Amino acid sequence: MHIGIVGYGSAGQAAALLLSRDGHRVEVFERVPEPGPVGAGFLLQPVGLEVLWELGLLDPALSHGARISRLYGETARGRPVMDMRYGELDPALFGLGMQRAALFSLLDAAWQEGRVLHAGCAITALDPERAQVTDAGGRRHGPFDLLVVADGAASGLRGQVRAARMDRAYPWGAQWCLVPGQDWRWPDELRQRYVRARRMAGMLPVGSRPGDPVRRLSFFWSTPAAAFEDGEWQGEAAWRREVAEVWPEAADAVRVTTLPAGLAQARYRDTVHRRWFCGRTVLIGDAAHAMSPQLGQGVNMALLDARALRDVLRECRDVASALPLFEQRRRAHVDIYHFWSRWLTPLFQSHHDRVAGMRDIGFHPLTRIPGLRAQTLRVLTGTRRGWFGRLPLSAPFRQRLLQLATQGPAADAPRAVITPSTPAP
Ligand SMILES: Cc1cc2nc3c(=O)[nH]c(=O)nc-3n(C[C@H](O)[C@H](O)[C@H](O)COP(=O)(O)OP(=O)(O)OC[C@H]3O[C@@H](n4cnc5c(N)ncnc54)[C@H](O)[C@@H]3O)c2cc1C
Repeated sequence: MHIGIVGYGSAGQAAALLLSRDGHRVEVFERVPEPGPVGAGFLLQPVGLEVLWELGLLDPALSHGARISRLYGETARGRPVMDMRYGELDPALFGLGMQRAALFSLLDAAWQEGRVLHAGCAITALDPERAQVTDAGGRRHGPFDLLVVADGAASGLRGQVRAARMDRAYPWGAQWCLVPGQDWRWPDELRQRYVRARRMAGMLPVGSRPGDPVRRLSFFWSTPAAAFEDGEWQGEAAWRREVAEVWPEAADAVRVTTLPAGLAQARYRDTVHRRWFCGRTVLIGDAAHAMSPQLGQGVNMALLDARALRDVLRECRDVASALPLFEQRRRAHVDIYHFWSRWLTPLFQSHHDRVAGMRDIGFHPLTRIPGLRAQTLRVLTGTRRGWFGRLPLSAPFRQRLLQLATQGPAADAPRAVITPSTPAP
């Protein structure tokens, strides 16, 4: 098929690579003239790692990323609020902290065959039935056999595919930056500190990236969205003082960051669509299901969407039957994360002091109850499907993880492993 993809973020990149490898003719439209990663770092869960493994990119990802074995959060006074270890669910499992630039480079370098990337080409309109797009210069592209819209959380195109049932900005967002990670005390943990729900500081080891061997940490500082407005910046001294009050070690790590220029800002959206497709056009990634990053699943979802789209195109005779199947399969996974991220976000980012007080008292003991603990771990690892189901990892992939877990970091040396989950047509 001739497939058009709008957006070259994680979802668009993975879709371009997977669909090209299946022999489709792929054209990508990206509005940025020099496509590159946006944002600092993120945590890849086992379900996302499985997609990289299928693409033969697991080992290079491991050689750059930082393996994470524990997610730990506490109040500024040192009271534990969350303490989760991947190994408690399955000794083979771990997360991988990565710099966005590392994942971007790996996916970008892997997509070479038949590569057609229109950079600096913003799409302003589309016709979902004809699978045709119009760019900012008024030029038409297509019609395609399939049009994939992957233009991210702030998508300006999703409404032209389907009207959203809900599309709202969260009142809170985050400031973030990358800092050098040598001497950091917790190199294999995502750690967070909370002051009620008004402040949340996070530090995630994210390893290195191609061309830069320095292993880094991604710092996350929760902020009301209004603070992003002009004139609301509190000033460098006050900002550093506040970070130090919440978490002295983190304040020390970010002392090299120039302020405010070195801080990136992110806002999140909560978007729900009744349908993710119309005619021969389909939404994937944040364009289909933007959610708060509270559960750290967005990149994983983007990778899983791309793989699911490839799989239904292999299985179905035509696009008309493939797209409903794609939505049905992915919704069963995405919806529960949408639900939990919507309900958990105010516990960690809001002015609700009383709710945060209950969180501080109750969250940790609740998640230590054996049955509930396994459920919580399932949600965190991305392997929850619906309320009680599981998204299983394939046996060979789990075996590979187990091998890595027992052999240790020496096994992380790059080695291509390409094992498609379903046969090519
Ligand atoms: C603070 C924060 C922390 C996060 N932490 C994590 C984490 O730990 N783990 C995790 O898995 N996820 C995390 N996420 C979520 C994750 O970043 C997103 O879910 C993921 O990047 C979505 O990928 P995407 O490809 O759908 O969208 P994007 O990566 O946003 O890509 C969209 C692309 O489309 C392009 N585009 C937009 N409009 C147009 C247009 N009109 N024409 C052409 N191109 C266009 C953009 O330039 C961009 O390149 C976090 C998000 C935030 C904000």
